[in-house]
Amino acid sequence: MSDLTRLSAADLAARLSSGEVSSVEATQAHLDRIAAVDGDVHAFLHVSDHALDVAADIDRRRAAGESLGELAGVPLAIKDVLVTTDMPSTSGSKILEGFLSPYDATVVARSRAAGLVPLGKTNMDEFAMGSSTEHSAYGPTHNPWDLDRIPGGSGGGSAAAVAAFEAPLALGSDTGGSIRQPAHVTGTVGMKPTYGAVSRFGAIALASSLDQVGPVSRTVLDSALLHDVIGGHDPHDATSLTDSWPSFATAAREGAAGAGLAGLKIGVIRELPDSGFQAGVSASFRAALALLEAQGAEIVEVSAPHFEYGVAAYYLILPAEASSNLAKFDSVRFGMRVEVPGGTVEDVMAATRDAGFGDEVKRRIILGTYALSAGYYDAYYGSAQKVRTLIQRDFDTAFADVDVIATPSAPTTAFKLGEKIDDPLQMYLNDVTTIPVNLAGVPGISIPSGLAEEDGLPVGIQFIAPARQDARLYRVGAAAEALLVDSWGGPLLDRAPLLGGNR
Ligand code: GLN
Repeated sequence: MSDLTRLSAADLAARLSSGEVSSVEATQAHLDRIAAVDGDVHAFLHVSDHALDVAADIDRRRAAGESLGELAGVPLAIKDVLVTTDMPSTSGSKILEGFLSPYDATVVARSRAAGLVPLGKTNMDEFAMGSSTEHSAYGPTHNPWDLDRIPGGSGGGSAAAVAAFEAPLALGSDTGGSIRQPAHVTGTVGMKPTYGAVSRFGAIALASSLDQVGPVSRTVLDSALLHDVIGGHDPHDATSLTDSWPSFATAAREGAAGAGLAGLKIGVIRELPDSGFQAGVSASFRAALALLEAQGAEIVEVSAPHFEYGVAAYYLILPAEASSNLAKFDSVRFGMRVEVPGGTVEDVMAATRDAGFGDEVKRRIILGTYALSAGYYDAYYGSAQKVRTLIQRDFDTAFADVDVIATPSAPTTAFKLGEKIDDPLQMYLNDVTTIPVNLAGVPGISIPSGLAEEDGLPVGIQFIAPARQDARLYRVGAAAEALLVDSWGGPLLDRAPLLGGNR
């Protein structure tokens, strides 16, 4: 395997800009890696057939002395929920098989403009509904740590691609944890920015009040670099914030250099039950906190009594919004059509949606339509919105006392493929610590905290900050990462028995 695939995006970018390596070489190395391992991992739904042309163009421009972005020439994997003009975008669904978008998602357009080289589109649960990527209409992705286990979801493809060294960077989307939970189970880094900090334009909508696009990588600095590229105001997204943001890469570099921990107040949620958390996950979380405390951080107990009701509220709000967003897949406006000879428009619509949507999507559309129906609106959707407000207030109160809140990123390590697929409730409970962050619109980052003792699989620690304090997460995340990597004697992924030890 080529060494170029083992480099962080920042290190690869430095070699590209010094001329030591060309983008064509770097891109070829990643395409070779994909060819070698993706048959086992299945992180990609589509691999670009012109990535090398894009890379060659970057090399030409660099040779001509053009000033290029810091990440120019670095390969990028793109979650299939983000629309692209040159590759199909399916959102993991049969109903969109082969769909070619007439425009690029803003984050894709910005990545291209910054000279990143799209490698392909990554696998995901259908319409981003799920925590295991098993709900993809195109078959599951496998966790590079253990091919019999899930890579998380819905963005399992992006996380697995990065963990398996098929791409140094990826784009993801996070509605209830789909960037952070896959990061947790694959030993990678995933950031869900503040709601509105990154454009949703061209991200196929799941639940518009919760969806947020963000970076996936192997280091905190790499996520920060990509966030710098994709973030900022977009007039095409009505909920896009108009803030001017600081450099997240600078924040990450400051953190890695040791800034940010002395005097930092880290909140730990009193009400978060220890039960339901795998022992090795809790142990890794506490060990990481102890390490931070030894460097001068202060661990403070905070109360967030409504945090644990997040899952219940989310599974009313999300299906309600999703049932509306998915109405456009109606056999006329988007996607496939199943003809029904002699049938009415309704017959064609029903047959198309029946054939085009998978079970989980149907389950949520039915749930959402029910929750929004006249007689039940107040009891379900209305109540869930009230719980959402209470969770937001919990965060406001807690952040009056602490700078960040820390939780385990998910309750268990990667479970076996097939283990929870027939038990939606167990699948939903996976997101107990990530969902409240989306409900409140605040940013959250997951970084590796170590391996669970009982199974040797990766565990993530999540840091949460107040809205708009994304830079704080990169600073704290990079500081914690530096300490942890030091304590392990090197990055977890460099020592992982990836792909059955046959890495
Ligand atoms: N696992 C969660 C769900 O199934 C989160 C999905 C997401 O963030 N897109 O809805």
